[in-house]
Amino acid sequence: MIFEFLTDTIMAILPINTIGDKVLNKVAKPLKAITSEHKTLIENMFETMYQAEGIGLAGPQVGKSLRVFVIDLSVMEDFKDEKPMAFINPQILETGGMATMEEGCLSVPGIREEVKRPEMIKIKYRDEDFKEHVEVFHGLKARVIQHEYEHLTGNLFVNNLDSRTKRKIKDDIEAIKHGNVDITYQIVEKPKALQHS
Ligand code: ZN
Repeated sequence: MIFEFLTDTIMAILPINTIGDKVLNKVAKPLKAITSEHKTLIENMFETMYQAEGIGLAGPQVGKSLRVFVIDLSVMEDFKDEKPMAFINPQILETGGMATMEEGCLSVPGIREEVKRPEMIKIKYRDEDFKEHVEVFHGLKARVIQHEYEHLTGNLFVNNLDSRTKRKIKDDIEAIKHGNVDITYQIVEKPKALQHS
């Protein structure tokens, strides 16, 4: 159970890093073991994701370049029985099929675009107790997992778009990079130098 281990710990909402922040471009490091700090981080990532009304959140998005991400699809009517899941040191073993779906990202607020990805994935990962699993996912769940996995490789979904779509969203991306965003969750403030460049 994800929520059992931290009943005596105060949960915290973490500020989210947005496009332009270097931590989002770094390849995240694997965890050798899971410590109480990691467990607190995971718990805080869930809280941060819920507060921001996201369905997935990766370590680099809260400034931690670690191979960990969390997902919870249960806010969506069709997935209301889904359990929250944490993925540590994930490794995609196989992919199959192709599907196009609209995606958004808490690190790229306000932008939603269609992205083509494999429809099925087979993934090896460790859970929040560092127990290893190999599982197959399809559809939206496979999509969210791949989106979050990509954060660990230092990539963002907007980098995968075709050049025409990239041109279309260029000004909006620049606005985010300069900290001009209208959102209800807390983001990491951009350095002053960038704001005025
Ligand atoms: Zn994202």
